[in-house]
Amino acid sequence: MKYAKENGRSDEWVKRGLWRVRRPKRRKSIIQPTGVEDCGGELVFKYRLPRSGSLINRLKVVGDLQVNNRQFEVKLNSINIHGKIEDECVELQVRCDKKGYINTKTFMEKLLSRSLNCIGCGACISSCPQGALQATERDVVVSDKCDRCWNCLKVPCVIEDSERMTSVKMDPFMISPCEKGLAMNHILLPNGELGEVLARRLRAKGIDIEIHEGGRVLCVSKTFPTWRLERYLMNSLFNE
Ligand code: SF4
Ligand code: SF4
Repeated sequence: MKYAKENGRSDEWVKRGLWRVRRPKRRKSIIQPTGVEDCGGELVFKYRLPRSGSLINRLKVVGDLQVNNRQFEVKLNSINIHGKIEDECVELQVRCDKKGYINTKTFMEKLLSRSLNCIGCGACISSCPQGALQATERDVVVSDKCDRCWNCLKVPCVIEDSERMTSVKMDPFMISPCEKGLAMNHILLPNGELGEVLARRLRAKGIDIEIHEGGRVLCVSKTFPTWRLERYLMNSLFNE
C-alpha cells in the first residue's frame, strides 16, 4: 500500500492485484531499407541509420574504406557501399549482385546490427587473429590490420538477440510468427499495394496465402520454410 501511494497507484490497483501484470515485452526495433531499387543484375538498398560511434569504422571489415569529407565508400567484390554522413544520421546505399543477395543479406545485417549496438564488452576482440580490434570506452574499432577473415562476425555477440538490440534488415518486408499462436507466419509489408502484388505472384507459384489488413499483412503456413519464403518474395519483387 505504501509503494502504491508513493507511486500514485489507486487502491483498486492493489486490491485487484494489478501489480502482478507485467509490462509487455518491448518489441525489438528494426531498421528496414527506406528504398530498394532494381538496377538490372544488381539491387540497391538505401538506409538512414543513426550515426553511432563505430558504424563507419566497422565497415573496414568489408573492404578498403575511403572517406572523403562527408562521403565514404567501401568495395568488396560484388558489394559496393556508398555513404553520406549527416549531422544526426548516416545515409547508406548498399549495392549488391542479385545472385549473391542471400549471402550479402546475412553478412550485412549482422555487421550493421552489431556496429550500431556494440557496447564495447570486448568479448569478440580475442577472436581477431590480426589483433585488429581495439576496445574504446563505448565500443570496439577496427584498425587497418584487418584482413577480412570475418572471424569476429562468427563469434557470438553479447547484445545480439537481446531486447535492446536495433536490428538492420535488408528486406523491405518482415516475416514474424503469428501473435495469436496460429501455425502461420505473417509477412508485414509497408503498403497494401505491394501486398496485393506479392500475394498474386506467390499464388501463381502455388503458394497458399491469405491477405489481411488491405494487403499489409500476408499469412502463410509455418510449414513453408522462412528462407524459401524470403527468396520467393525477393524474386517476386524484382524478377517479374
Ligand atoms: S561482442 Fe558484440 S558488444 Fe561485445 S565488443 Fe564485440 S561487437 Fe561489441
Ligand atoms: S577478425 Fe578478421 S574481419 Fe574481424 S577485425 Fe579481425 S581481421 Fe578483421
